[in-house]
Amino acid sequence: MVTRFAPSPTGPLHLGHAYSALTIQTLGADGRVHLRIEDVDRTRSRAHHAAQIEDDLHWIGFRWDGAIRVQSEHRAEHEAALASLSARGLTYPCSCSRREIGDAGARIGAMGLVYPGTCRGRSMEDARPGDAIRLDIGRALAVAGDLPGFTEWGPLHSGKHAVEPAYLTRDIGDPVLIRRESGDIAYDLACPHDDAALGVNHVIRGADLWPNTPLHVLIQTLMDWPVPDYFHHELVTDQTGRRLAKVDRSKAIARYRDEGMSPKDLRAMLPPLPAIPWAP
Ligand code: GLU
Repeated sequence: MVTRFAPSPTGPLHLGHAYSALTIQTLGADGRVHLRIEDVDRTRSRAHHAAQIEDDLHWIGFRWDGAIRVQSEHRAEHEAALASLSARGLTYPCSCSRREIGDAGARIGAMGLVYPGTCRGRSMEDARPGDAIRLDIGRALAVAGDLPGFTEWGPLHSGKHAVEPAYLTRDIGDPVLIRRESGDIAYDLACPHDDAALGVNHVIRGADLWPNTPLHVLIQTLMDWPVPDYFHHELVTDQTGRRLAKVDRSKAIARYRDEGMSPKDLRAMLPPLPAIPWAP
């Protein structure tokens, strides 16, 4: 088993991250566990958050194998994956702002606004500086052919899942692969790329990313990357049942630590870690 914890250094770690890291550590105990810093969003990522994340992980007792994979150091590989999709006519440049997308009557889908396709059909040769690059999901589905399903081990959705083309076209739409203005590589391209590059065969992450998984399977299929098994764990909520947000500073792990809490006390605040589903 090869798995990974892949935090984004856009803020301090909170209890939800601690739960994720410890779940990964428990389920991956007999295999390899990588730490990947997902810093491709250059606008929001900060080196000091990455350093703090390492520190916090050490403190809660999370250990990883091998060197830390810093995602931004692999830009050339991400661009090569994008070029492969573009060479097959599956991408197009998009200059629409969020507001324009909203004004065009975009629906809210599983991952946010579903792009109404205003720029679809534009040629990559017409890309202007600052344009986003999107995947034409309809064409991508046509090229991919029969999609494999994936296995989910997590208790929330456990079982075999087919990837439904209708879900991708209706609830996801044409996803961004290169972000508008910043030119950053988008999560939905960098993540499946790096999972394949690291040989990850079990992705363990929060249920908030469940909607993205069919899209990742589509990209894996297009790129001939193996489809890992998935485990989406529950999200840690505060007393009001709201999802903990990174912006909720009062919940930063470092703050509990500064207040004198031990790693054991912190663990006691978390829901029970999931049991290993494949253990006899
Ligand atoms: N970087 C993502 C996050 O912090 C996690 C990505 C993943 O596990 O696939 O939410």
